[in-house]
Amino acid sequence: MSPSFESTSLRTELFIDGMWQQATNGATFPVENPATNEIIAHVADGGTEDANRAIRAAERAQKAWATSTPRERADILRRAFELVIAGTDRLAAIMTAEMGKPLTEARGEVAYGAEMLRWFSEEAIRISGDHTTSVDGNSRIMITKEPVGPCVLVTPWNFPLAMGARKIAPAIAAGCTMVFKPAELTPLTSLALVEIFKEAGLPDGVLNVVTTSKASNVVENWTSSGIARKISFTGSTEVGKILLRQAADNVMRSSMELGGNAPFIVMADADIEKAVEGAMKAKMRNMGEACTAANRFYVHRSVIDEFSGKFAKKISELRVGNGALEGTDVGPLIEQKGLDKVQSLVTDAIEKGARVLTGGSSPEGPGYFYTPTVLTDVPLNANLMHTEIFGPVAAITPFDSEDEALRLANNTEWGLVAYIFTENVNTALRFSAELEVGMVGMNTGLVSNPAAPFGGIKQSGLGREGGKIGIDEYLEIKYTAIQT
Ligand code: ADP
Repeated sequence: MSPSFESTSLRTELFIDGMWQQATNGATFPVENPATNEIIAHVADGGTEDANRAIRAAERAQKAWATSTPRERADILRRAFELVIAGTDRLAAIMTAEMGKPLTEARGEVAYGAEMLRWFSEEAIRISGDHTTSVDGNSRIMITKEPVGPCVLVTPWNFPLAMGARKIAPAIAAGCTMVFKPAELTPLTSLALVEIFKEAGLPDGVLNVVTTSKASNVVENWTSSGIARKISFTGSTEVGKILLRQAADNVMRSSMELGGNAPFIVMADADIEKAVEGAMKAKMRNMGEACTAANRFYVHRSVIDEFSGKFAKKISELRVGNGALEGTDVGPLIEQKGLDKVQSLVTDAIEKGARVLTGGSSPEGPGYFYTPTVLTDVPLNANLMHTEIFGPVAAITPFDSEDEALRLANNTEWGLVAYIFTENVNTALRFSAELEVGMVGMNTGLVSNPAAPFGGIKQSGLGREGGKIGIDEYLEIKYTAIQT
């Protein structure tokens, strides 16, 4: 039987230089279960003194870690992969308790995060350089790669395990040390992951974790330290801009996975069953709390009734409830602020003329639940067409021509992902080329994959995570000219 959260032992301290420890001032902050509003743990509330100790530990460990062998780093990642898989039920129970997602989704996230560890265990031993000749033939050019150096990692609450794994794994593979600040709403999963890295044999000081309720103090201590050489952040565009400004002061390498406003386009010739299935994944995974979540549905006028009717029927059949109970399809939102935002976006759309096909309300508490909702005839000036909804609400709008669909899809400052459903390969390829995004889901509602470069363009971010190039974010290039 799966372990319940109550029977799971939890790590709640900071992890600095290989040791679990309380915050210097002994402070803690509470972690809430969003399905029940119960406080499930108190976690060490690190401050700037703790941040300082963490970055210094990373600095001390960097030199030896950079000269560790690729095989050693690969083996640590491989062991961590195996431990994560073996601990799937425990990790899923922790994640569901602090974040709310249903256990089946939490297990899926554990598998995805584990795959990141396995992928980068395989990449660690394949870091290679290049060799060429100068244009005048008088010297040789040797190109080698080195770890960037100590990295600052900051992660969000929506995928507490996968977002950490997606940064820690390539950093380990490349030979970088790290200071890591997980989201304050979901620190327990990250601490459980760190425990696994220690068990897998990661040397002291390579990965240091400071949980805190004062994110800006801790992270700014690191970005201004002059020690950190890189920052990798996943979160809102707003905070990403703050961190980019901080990174500029020390010219730090920056990887930013920021917000999205994904269009989901259904052409007249789409396979509607396939489109509905893709829409369920693209909209409802993680209660819609994903930067890749479909935010705007543009559906050709000739198929809008069929698509909307079938989609709304499926959505109305979803079971909403505590994610810890088997059979739950949709858990709560993460916090009151998120619920308020979703409610006000739906109210605004209805006031501007949208029609509710299903949902449109939030049940009585406890828990931050919102009923899965489908709105159609949503006017283009509704706020939810321009704002990341981050909730289980689908907003559908008709279009009449390919050009119109493209124009609407690209009319945003974000550019993370777009979904296009069509049975015509020429249309599909045209959209793939013209959509201003980093990722395209062609007849699929899911793009995340360890073998794929995840990331966006425009204000959705900088850099890519995963895939063959994922490790490059943690490597510097050095060129040596050799006189011959
Ligand atoms: P969300 O809106 O999804 O919560 P945020 O961008 O606010 O996303 O948070 C993502 C991560 O960034 C979290 O770990 C959070 O603690 C951290 N964070 C928030 N504000 C700041 C800040 N000013 N400086 C550094 N980190 C921050």
